[in-house]
Amino acid sequence: MKRILLVGGGHVHLYFMKQLINNPIKSIEIFLVSPSTYHYYSGMFSGFAEGLYYAEEIRINLEKISERANVRFIRDSIIKLAPNENSVTTKNGELIKYDVVSFDIGSETLGNDHPDFQTHARFIKPNHRFTRTIEAVRSASKPVIVGGGAAGSEISLAIQAWRNKQGLETPVSIITTSNLLESEGKNASNKLHTYMKATPVKRYTHVKINSMDTRFIYLNNNDKVEYDKIILLTGAKASNIFKESDLRTDERGFLAVQNSLQSREYANIFGAGDCVTLLDHPFLPKNGVYAVRQAPVLYKNVLRFIKGQKLDDFIPNDKFLSILSLGNKRGLLLYGKKVIAGRFPWRLKNYIDKKYMASFK
Ligand SMILES: Cc1cc2nc3c(=O)[nH]c(=O)nc-3n(C[C@H](O)[C@H](O)[C@H](O)COP(=O)(O)OP(=O)(O)OC[C@H]3O[C@@H](n4cnc5c(N)ncnc54)[C@H](O)[C@@H]3O)c2cc1C
Repeated sequence: MKRILLVGGGHVHLYFMKQLINNPIKSIEIFLVSPSTYHYYSGMFSGFAEGLYYAEEIRINLEKISERANVRFIRDSIIKLAPNENSVTTKNGELIKYDVVSFDIGSETLGNDHPDFQTHARFIKPNHRFTRTIEAVRSASKPVIVGGGAAGSEISLAIQAWRNKQGLETPVSIITTSNLLESEGKNASNKLHTYMKATPVKRYTHVKINSMDTRFIYLNNNDKVEYDKIILLTGAKASNIFKESDLRTDERGFLAVQNSLQSREYANIFGAGDCVTLLDHPFLPKNGVYAVRQAPVLYKNVLRFIKGQKLDDFIPNDKFLSILSLGNKRGLLLYGKKVIAGRFPWRLKNYIDKKYMASFK
């Protein structure tokens, strides 16, 4: 019997399993390896941080969904891939053979290997760390978020909103090397700045961290920021697995895939979501939206590959809807050049996210 190995229980493989529940396959053995029973959905991270959702509402039980999909769930992490032997090795020392392997392992956090951050900061990736990290940091006496992109901005505002409700007076600080939300353009960045200015969040923009000790973060403009807990939200970093396996990657170490979501050198290695870079679209942002859009192509192609059929291409379109939570049930909607802030974007986000989660119940 042929074996498909799904590595990582992220957006793409969740879709895969949903399809298997509706279209059972008896003739192929399918395994899923992921480090936790639960996959936490990042679209609802800010809502959890603000206290709007319970942990149960933002996570999907991979063990249960695997059972329904007739997939064998293995709670473990892949640490090594041997493409010439068609096998992977897990953290617990298991060797798993495959006929086709598909990676949906997401990304790590940029800077997570820096000694200062390793000593003083907390991370939310892999994503099953999320709730524990947030619970520890949001009630800290001096919480600091490093990173001013969508994730860092959202989490700063969410934690601040939670602290306001708890009557905690010291503000959240956010530190970023550029403007807040710089990659989304001036309009979005300005709107976010204006919004954040009206909250207690202390913004340190256009600064670099020189060093830190157990009490202060020292910035390159001679400012220092007092902290007791830090979360690093500095963008996506690749897992070492692909580089160490001598697979073709981009310069950051993300698995390089063709439009079929397939490695060029090894036709039986597929991947989608944050962990891959499309050779034809190297600058595609790493977000859940693209992971979700790639999922149907990956599902179809893995099965077609096994049957020796022609594969489809994933063709990305430029525009995608992105909604950041601003706290207090307000949101910032970004779509192409459109930027809308207010209650409606948050309501729409809440609707989309809850609908997405309900589809796995
Ligand atoms: C705070 C925050 C908020 C965000 N909000 C949004 C948002 O609102 N909208 C949006 O589009 N994007 C958002 N993102 C980005 C989004 O989280 C990622 O782009 C998205 O999760 C990528 O999906 P994925 O399926 O590639 O990986 P993931 O969702 O990260 O899933 C990867 C899975 O693989 C598992 N895994 C990891 N390593 C291994 C291994 N070695 N072996 C086996 N399993 C492994 C992980 O445990 C995890 O279950 C946010 C990110 C952050 C940090």
